[in-house]
Amino acid sequence: MAEIAHYINNALVSGTSGRSQSVFNPATGTGDKNVSLASAEEVNHAVAAAKAAWPAWSKTPALRRARILDRFKMILWDRADHLAKVISAEHGKTHDDAVGEVTRGLEVVEFASAAPTLMKGEFSENVGSGVDSYMIRQPLGVCAGITPFNFPVMVPMWMFPLALATGNTFVLKPSERVPSAPLLIAEWLAEAGLPEGVFNIVQGDKTAVDSLLSNPDVKAISFVGSTAVAKYIYNTGTVNGKRVQALGGAKNHMIIMPDADLDMATSALMGAAYGSAGERCMAISVAVPVTDAVADALIERLVPRIEALKIGPCDDKASEMGPLITAQHRDRVHGYISSAEQEGAKIVVDGRKFKQDMQGYENGFYTGGTLMDHVEPDMKAYREEIFGPALSIVRCNSYQAAVDLIHDHEYANGTAVFTRDGDTARIFSQDIEVGMVGVNVPIPIPMAFHSFGGWKASIFGDHHMHGMEGVRFFTRIKTTTTRWPTGIRECANFSMPTV
Ligand code: NAD
Repeated sequence: MAEIAHYINNALVSGTSGRSQSVFNPATGTGDKNVSLASAEEVNHAVAAAKAAWPAWSKTPALRRARILDRFKMILWDRADHLAKVISAEHGKTHDDAVGEVTRGLEVVEFASAAPTLMKGEFSENVGSGVDSYMIRQPLGVCAGITPFNFPVMVPMWMFPLALATGNTFVLKPSERVPSAPLLIAEWLAEAGLPEGVFNIVQGDKTAVDSLLSNPDVKAISFVGSTAVAKYIYNTGTVNGKRVQALGGAKNHMIIMPDADLDMATSALMGAAYGSAGERCMAISVAVPVTDAVADALIERLVPRIEALKIGPCDDKASEMGPLITAQHRDRVHGYISSAEQEGAKIVVDGRKFKQDMQGYENGFYTGGTLMDHVEPDMKAYREEIFGPALSIVRCNSYQAAVDLIHDHEYANGTAVFTRDGDTARIFSQDIEVGMVGVNVPIPIPMAFHSFGGWKASIFGDHHMHGMEGVRFFTRIKTTTTRWPTGIRECANFSMPTV
């Protein structure tokens, strides 16, 4: 059986821990590959390689580092289709969705290629008599990225392009469920001219993560995943003296006001709730129609479209929605639907009944689209993240009740309002306590040159990802004050200087 390896010093390195786990093709349900799970020694070996590469890489002019990223970007453009196929084979998302993921990641490489500009400092002349002062941005050292299964390429690319461009070296620990696509990235970075040790991959599970968290040579950790793990990574990493940004789970609400274009809102909900089988941290999982009349009209439009969803494997061009990542996760999603039903929600469309009958795909981890009406805030399926294609409807009678609902939830990653009223949209955007906001845009993912991140239990740490926040996360500032002999005062000064 094929064994998926680590990548250290620009070479594939077979696992030596003796531990591995199956990697499945969710479309067929077969597990015909194994991924090595790194031991602490293997992680320390990767960190040592990154540490050894750091002095030369950090001293390489930013322009030359950026040129390597530019070459990598061109390779990615040329091979995006191939990379997308590798993503889909382990994740299950449709091909077009995987191409979209690669493109969104690529945009961060484009942004990071501007490193010479992004790292520019500040200079102040004559801050005191004969004294000048300047601030520069310097890299941190070895940085680590720990990433989730749902974006095998895009989420690592939220992290490493800026880390490398600003002069850090990197160790990536991808999700053990989707380990192959990151290896291609590592090989293509080397092909673009990245020196040995600058970008490394350790495959693994909690053992690998804990080794990164405790290794004193790792200066910063970027994490994206579930909230429980994000909190653990943040607490452990910061106690160990590391800089940490840890993005967690989500429960994203979309308010539909009575004046909204309902056809537009329906199409938006179809893509945002069922695209990528709901396995997106920016998926809309709760629709909040304001008034019962809006709720009824929305459901009338949604039901036939959910029932008509084309659910199938990524290599079938007709597929609109693929399988879930594992059989266990599918059972978990079904468990949430059952719990909502038991607690009084109405299951309007029941995805649990879906059976995949395409030949060769009968054992894939499929579920159908689900719509649940009359979901209440105290239900388990509302409080917790489902991370599947199961949309809840929580009915509200006023705009304020809808906003209060959002504010009462522990997660605050993304949200949207659908309305034609500029006043409502403006007040919503200004006052809502959520990190990413859409006005008639259901999934308001910031572009690479802005920064991505939620609020409350959707993030631990102060820095959002990519954009200028990413530059700030991967650099520390140094301020130097200079005086030359012509500026020296003649006598010693024992007081705080004044201008
Ligand atoms: P996960 O938390 O299970 O795993 C994420 C990473 O943490 C993986 O690399 C995994 O190996 C590691 N890990 C898992 N359990 C661990 C433990 N106990 N100790 C140490 N490390 C551990 O998340 P997932 O299931 O891979 O991804 C889905 C989750 O990620 C969802 O909650 C989703 O909302 C979230 N997510 C958030 C964002 C965001 O930007 N906020 C983006 C994508 C995904």
